[in-house]
Amino acid sequence: MRLIHAVRELAAEGTPIETVALYTDVDRTATFVREHGAHVLRGGVFKPRTSPYAFQGLGYDGLELLASAGHSAGLPIITEVMAPEQVRAIAEKADILQIGARNMQNFDLLRAVGKVYRPVLLKRGLSSTIEEWLAAAEYILAQGNGQVMLCERGIRTFESATRNTLDLSAVVVLRERTHLPVIVDPSHGTGKRSYVAPMAYAARACGAHGLLIEVHPDPEHALSDGDQSLTFTEFAALMEGLGRQRK
Ligand code: PEP
Ligand code: MN
Repeated sequence: MRLIHAVRELAAEGTPIETVALYTDVDRTATFVREHGAHVLRGGVFKPRTSPYAFQGLGYDGLELLASAGHSAGLPIITEVMAPEQVRAIAEKADILQIGARNMQNFDLLRAVGKVYRPVLLKRGLSSTIEEWLAAAEYILAQGNGQVMLCERGIRTFESATRNTLDLSAVVVLRERTHLPVIVDPSHGTGKRSYVAPMAYAARACGAHGLLIEVHPDPEHALSDGDQSLTFTEFAALMEGLGRQRK
């Protein structure tokens, strides 16, 4: 339960770990977010990209980098698992496992993470109802792993002004229907840097237990999701604002 408690407060994504040359960036990002109050470091090393030609992540080499950055900064790490056969190897290095939106109903994967002793962050499927999402969580719980967190990351609607439509009413529904911690990801939920902070405050106001925020030392040059990543300065301002909101 200790790790879940940690992520309840705030999770910050380091950076999608793009190239080995970014090694120092990962370290730098980890230290920075830790100094500004993040409790968990997230980085994607196996990345589920829409196009097979887009950057796919650094795989196990990336996991080593992420683990070492987390270790030096004193932060537990979370990363996505995409296939059942990866679960054990990744669980050896990662403190928390993420199931991405595209795999929310990959039932073999859900069963596999249900069998390891690691908390799981289950992202909501792109077009999934809350009912389907809770049923997916149940797949993990039914295997004996009770450490499941739910992550609202936006759903697909007719609206195209934002990358997804962040469904904050889901937070309210979940708070009533389940004891599982609810995390909100306003980065993927909006897709745009300037929308992240307002939605983060709103998520906190409606009862989210934690936030997942993408941060990048140089978002303009990020290989993935740069448009929605906060700069260090913006992240520091958000953390300060959240501190004030708490009072
Ligand atoms: C991610 O968290 O980096 C990601 C790919 O998000 P999602 O699965 O919510 O699209
Ligand atoms: Mn991302």
